[in-house]
Amino acid sequence: MADFKMFCYQCSQTSQGKGCINYGVCGKSPTLSRLQDNLIFGLKGISAYLYHASELGYRNSKLEKFLVETLYSTLTNVNFDTEKFIKLALDIGKINIETMKLLKKAHIETYGEPESVEVFTGTRKGKGIIVTGHSLKVLEEILKQSKDKGINVYTHSELLPAHGYPGIRKYDNLIGNLGKAWYDQKKLFSEIPACIVGSSNCVLIPKDEYKDRIFTTGIVGLPEVKHITGYDFSEVIEKAKTLPDLPEKNGDTILTTGFSLSSILSSKEKIKELIENGKIRRVFVIGGCDSPTNKNEYFRKLVEILPKDTIVITLACGKFRFNDLALGDIEGVPRLIDIGQCNDAIVGIDIISSLAELFNVKDINDLPVSYFLMWMEQKAVAILWSLLYLGIKGIRIGPIIPAWINEEILKYLVSEFNLKLVEEPEKDLKEILK
Ligand code: SF4
Ligand code: SF4
Repeated sequence: MADFKMFCYQCSQTSQGKGCINYGVCGKSPTLSRLQDNLIFGLKGISAYLYHASELGYRNSKLEKFLVETLYSTLTNVNFDTEKFIKLALDIGKINIETMKLLKKAHIETYGEPESVEVFTGTRKGKGIIVTGHSLKVLEEILKQSKDKGINVYTHSELLPAHGYPGIRKYDNLIGNLGKAWYDQKKLFSEIPACIVGSSNCVLIPKDEYKDRIFTTGIVGLPEVKHITGYDFSEVIEKAKTLPDLPEKNGDTILTTGFSLSSILSSKEKIKELIENGKIRRVFVIGGCDSPTNKNEYFRKLVEILPKDTIVITLACGKFRFNDLALGDIEGVPRLIDIGQCNDAIVGIDIISSLAELFNVKDINDLPVSYFLMWMEQKAVAILWSLLYLGIKGIRIGPIIPAWINEEILKYLVSEFNLKLVEEPEKDLKEILK
């Protein structure tokens, strides 16, 4: 693939019956093809958020119509205009903001607004179920159906922020969070003798060690793995009862999550004063999808070397690179603020908009805020286009450049949005603080 300018084999005209790799037989250019692929990744992200909102009964016909029209435009040879695709990408960013708003509304109206909480990361003696993915609905059903049955429930990865919601935290059998970002699951699930339920991405094909005790539900599917329908988890509960007890064991750390928009805004005057007095020099928004590469240690190193007069707002599973660091606070304002799942980027957007209002800045880029987006998959694509749609410039992405970005697309993103690729933490930080 490395030398391909593009890859498309969606129609029967395809070059040599195998695939168009230099230029489409139909006239599709490599850049257009890559933009189409990118838009499809972005639409997948929006679909994921719409799916979780619909699980809680929240739907929006305008957003669904946009999905249909954009899929038509990107999956078929109906539009050969590259500029229109750039505009469409920004439209995807806009629609993704509305979608994240819908999902946040669904979460808050169903489970209450999150509150910051400390989350235990060990195990309690007894039977257990681990829930992975992003679905609060699946987690709540499991908690409800397993309470008073001697089953302890743990979250994994992107369900850590669920602990902040009052409607989830009220269950006494919710014990804590195990593991870190999605890719530790094969090792973690092999070692811990609990049942596992995969509620959405990023679930992995299981190892034999736990294939008979992992279940999927809803949109998720794994080969040879039992699938649960209709939110009836009685089979999972019965299976968990037959498994060995988990040991009584403390975790290595305690994690804090669940910062909501209103809790942050309740300190807005204090934050304004601290920024004006130079006690908060800069805010770093560092979030996104983590991936299993040593290169992502960039983000831990970056957070470790941040001066003490900076604060970090984080979200999505990339936070596990550094959310065990004790950063302390600046006159009561925590230096590490976990606002939630990737879809909670909307909370970050609302915080930035409120800061812009508070400081009365016309250009959002005049705020002392820097943005880092960890790269991995389709939700990050949708969020990147949302930030670009809002006119945010100078976002740093990386450490691996997404493969759909060719030189032409990169040139455009750099010239229009001053997009940067992360380099070395010390170098990037020096440039930001100069
Ligand atoms: S749609 Fe165009 S680029 Fe894709 S396979 Fe057909 S001819 Fe090739
Ligand atoms: S934040 Fe991204 S990489 Fe992480 S679990 Fe969610 S979808 Fe997967």
